Amino acid sequence: MDLSQIRQQLSERKTLLEARAEKTERDASHRDAPLPADFAEQATERENDDVLRAIAGESVHEIELINQALARIEAGTYGECSECGDNISEQRLAAVPYTTLCVKCAESHE
Ligand SMILES: [Zn+2]
Repeated sequence: MDLSQIRQQLSERKTLLEARAEKTERDASHRDAPLPADFAEQATERENDDVLRAIAGESVHEIELINQALARIEAGTYGECSECGDNISEQRLAAVPYTTLCVKCAESHE
């Protein structure tokens, strides 16, 4: 398993997510454009804002997970299942690089 490559991938993903979170937050808060005067349009705008905030929230959540994964790489515990201590398969880590659970434990949580 190439940890420096994984770290690189995680960092790139984090940069992307930070940009997305920042942009969606900005769009949702209308720093650039005022709310429309029409009430119905305002309601639509607010619904859009809720969607944007949800996207921003998801991005922030994923950034958290990436930070934790980066910390585990530093600590030398990356790739270990946090529940049973088994090694998480490289296949799974390639698909979900910040997972903390092996397939078996992840399935038992569903
Ligand atoms: Zn496990």
